[in-house]
Amino acid sequence: MPVQPSIENHLLTSAKWCPSPNYNHRPSGANISLLVIHNISLPPRQFGGEYIESFFQNRLPREDHPYFAEIADLQVSAHLLIKRSGEVVQFVSFDQRAWHAGVSSFESETNCNDFSIGIELEGCDDLPYTSDQYTTLIQVTRLLMQRYPLITPTRIVGHDQIAPGRKTDPGATFDWKHYLDCLTGE
Ligand SMILES: [Zn+2]
Repeated sequence: MPVQPSIENHLLTSAKWCPSPNYNHRPSGANISLLVIHNISLPPRQFGGEYIESFFQNRLPREDHPYFAEIADLQVSAHLLIKRSGEVVQFVSFDQRAWHAGVSSFESETNCNDFSIGIELEGCDDLPYTSDQYTTLIQVTRLLMQRYPLITPTRIVGHDQIAPGRKTDPGATFDWKHYLDCLTGE
């Protein structure tokens, strides 16, 4: 029997640990109470490889693609990346503040990084995500809701919802109905 994944010391046991330097402490009194879904692919619209890991570790090889030179100096991160295979990588411990949301607000609370967990799906706005990604995302979200119970289905949002006009991810191809139905159903 495979060991069921769990969250121990704010780390997902099934994730590959790939620490990012791009994080800081959450402000005192900030409760983990929002889940933000993103997408990323590097180069854009290309999947596979380890460029996302390199980007979140500030070691993206800027000579490998013209786009990399534009973004290589950004210091960003997310707590988790779910690759096309469903494999999960963790970059920042959940109790720490990852740098994924940028200028953002949810229900009049600004700076969503302070109180959210960020999950990147390897993908882009206009191509479907894989069924393995949904399977992993649903499993991980259930674990996060158990461990951080202020995260509820109405406090799971896309980046586009907390930074409207500035961000579009996870895009129209992300199947919110399937995802939320699976979270709340059997
Ligand atoms: Zn995003």
